[in-house]
Amino acid sequence: MRRSGTIIIRGIVQGVGFRPFVYAKAREFGITGTVKNLGSEVEIHASGERFEEFLEAVSRGTPLSRIDSVDVYNLRDGQETAGFTILESGRGSLTGFIPADVAICDECIADIFAPGGRYEGYWATSCVNCGPRYSIITDVPYDRERTSMAEFPLCPACQSEYSDPSSRRHHAQTIACAACGPRLSLLRADGRPVAAEDPIREAAALLDEGSIVAIRGIGGFHIACIEEAAEELKSRLGRTEQPLAVMAEPEEVERIAVVSPDDRRILHSRERPIVVLEKRDPESHRTISRLHTIGCMLPYTGLHYLLFAHLDHRLLVMTSANLPGYPMITDLESALERLPRQVDCILTHNRRIVNRCDDSVVRDGCIIRLSRGLAPKREAIDLGDACILGVGPELNSNISVYKNGFCITSPHIGNVRNPQTLAYLTETVEKIGKLTDARYDMVVHDLHPQFLSTRYAREVAEANGAELLAVQHHRAHIAAATREECVGIAIDGVGYGDDGTVWGGEVFAGEVPHLERVAHLEVVPMPGGDLATRFPERMLYGILPTAEIRGLLASRGWSDMELAVLAKQVERGLNVAATSSTGRVLDAASALLGICRERTYDGEPAMELESEAYGGRASVWDLEFRQDGGCEVLSTRSLLAEAYRRMVAGERVADIAASIQFNLARGITTMAVRAAEERGIPRVVLSGGVAYNRAIRETIGAGVMAAGLEFIVSREYPLGDGCISFGQVVYGGSMRE
Ligand SMILES: [Zn+2]
Ligand SMILES: [Zn+2]
Repeated sequence: MRRSGTIIIRGIVQGVGFRPFVYAKAREFGITGTVKNLGSEVEIHASGERFEEFLEAVSRGTPLSRIDSVDVYNLRDGQETAGFTILESGRGSLTGFIPADVAICDECIADIFAPGGRYEGYWATSCVNCGPRYSIITDVPYDRERTSMAEFPLCPACQSEYSDPSSRRHHAQTIACAACGPRLSLLRADGRPVAAEDPIREAAALLDEGSIVAIRGIGGFHIACIEEAAEELKSRLGRTEQPLAVMAEPEEVERIAVVSPDDRRILHSRERPIVVLEKRDPESHRTISRLHTIGCMLPYTGLHYLLFAHLDHRLLVMTSANLPGYPMITDLESALERLPRQVDCILTHNRRIVNRCDDSVVRDGCIIRLSRGLAPKREAIDLGDACILGVGPELNSNISVYKNGFCITSPHIGNVRNPQTLAYLTETVEKIGKLTDARYDMVVHDLHPQFLSTRYAREVAEANGAELLAVQHHRAHIAAATREECVGIAIDGVGYGDDGTVWGGEVFAGEVPHLERVAHLEVVPMPGGDLATRFPERMLYGILPTAEIRGLLASRGWSDMELAVLAKQVERGLNVAATSSTGRVLDAASALLGICRERTYDGEPAMELESEAYGGRASVWDLEFRQDGGCEVLSTRSLLAEAYRRMVAGERVADIAASIQFNLARGITTMAVRAAEERGIPRVVLSGGVAYNRAIRETIGAGVMAAGLEFIVSREYPLGDGCISFGQVVYGGSMRE
């Protein structure tokens, strides 16, 4: 039996209350010695009769920690001490990284509402188990001096709690109270202060009256209002169609939406993402979301809980303060500069947001946006010794860094097609690079030669003398889901293909990094390129270039001139891209059925088609397959032609919408199952943004499993393009092996 030793615990051990936890266990088991934070490991020198029990207890870790390994060595001379002390942090290896921001815990909520308590009404109350982390750190190891809390010296009461081993705030780096911590203020949109004794109470009153209020939160600014002001908010933001998210207390969420046990667990989790739920009544809350779904989140900071305590309304519309795809506003100066016409006032605080972090979004357990609470995400994966950077694609981007057996994926960055978002990408690469002490051997980017991220990858590779690798978009999707041999289905918007056409409905077979394209959707023209994405009726005509469709478009107000130009474009292939995208087929169906004629936000036509189909009944249609260049191809022309016939015959639009989704999914499943059976591959992986569509995902899943194959959908990374940077890194690492 050991009576002493040096214990090294590796993993996420920073910012998770590990040292106070070790201290408490040392007291419990009568252990003397020291504990020290070394970045991604904690070093404990310990002696005492009950050493083994102590070792077992500390090996279990704290609720927020993640332990990769525990090693024990003999103590060296002079390492035995009397008593037990927490030492200053040192700087060690950094593979453990820093935990993400955490929602306020129940005990801290109780503190806020405890009458006469030290934390009563204090908006930034936190403890060792909760509060901001990533959004406030400037460097590792995680200690107050390396966070934006460094500007707030502790008052005597906080200092004594910080030093008290029996306190939940023992060594809590974010400890603060009304006397010493960050303060709130309420401003008019022009920056003039609003005289208010309690800024939260005043903000709640203004919201109740219908004002639109910017609220500075953990990782950036939100813009909030009551439901009755949602139209006004949308018109001020110029986003009249896009669904908005809401924040509400649990009872209200249950009242407006159907919440499954899994959804409930995710809603209440310490990550507190926005959870996309089906409305109880699909026609309700139309000003917030015209879809059959609504994104809901629970309050997750003391500020939110206090706001709801003062608010008469039960629900707040909450949207990030940024243009879609652009970085969220984090500092007051930018808010004052950019929001004066959009908001009536600003509820802000004086704690600097070091690292921007938007809300995460989850639907059916699948991650749509990997951000606050979930990121930086750390994955243990062995990709060898090289240090690898993945810069992501163009839309819904993030970045990933691999080093020493771990891959770190950043929070959501946005659409890297403007200088602001590119600057944010660059800044994120620098920050994560610094926190992980990365020196890149390889930089991986998308195959698209014109992406800003591709150009940026070249620069980083050159500066680091690193190898540069391009990975095809949809192969990165599959690589993010599995490294095992598989048939991989990527159903997506658009991504640059091997042959220079626009892919997006692909079936691969093999094993990363050898994924062979074996099947795809029919290649159809996209008249006008990106214009066909914005105006899906162009896409419809690209797929069905018939006199009937010209007639349909004419009846909807297309001029003879416009139709003639479109027809000539398709006929001669002028300014026409070729695509096998699943998203574009759904867009065309949405346009055909008159559901969506202009896309005003990412994914709109297909999402509205899904909402229409939600109320419909699907029927089985004939499917047409053919062979082309060694690949099996599903005819999407025949599907849309069938839809048109049924529309003319007067079939219900909802039923046609449901049938298009169902038969498209059935066709893709047929090709994937055939590919798996021919090759004896036991599993099928599904990824791509279209996989968020529940009807399509479930149809494919049911078909794959009915064929006796394993069906894999990632719950760890987004199905959309938020998985690409990780997939790029996995692909790159596999190439080097
Ligand atoms: Zn707490
Ligand atoms: Zn204090």
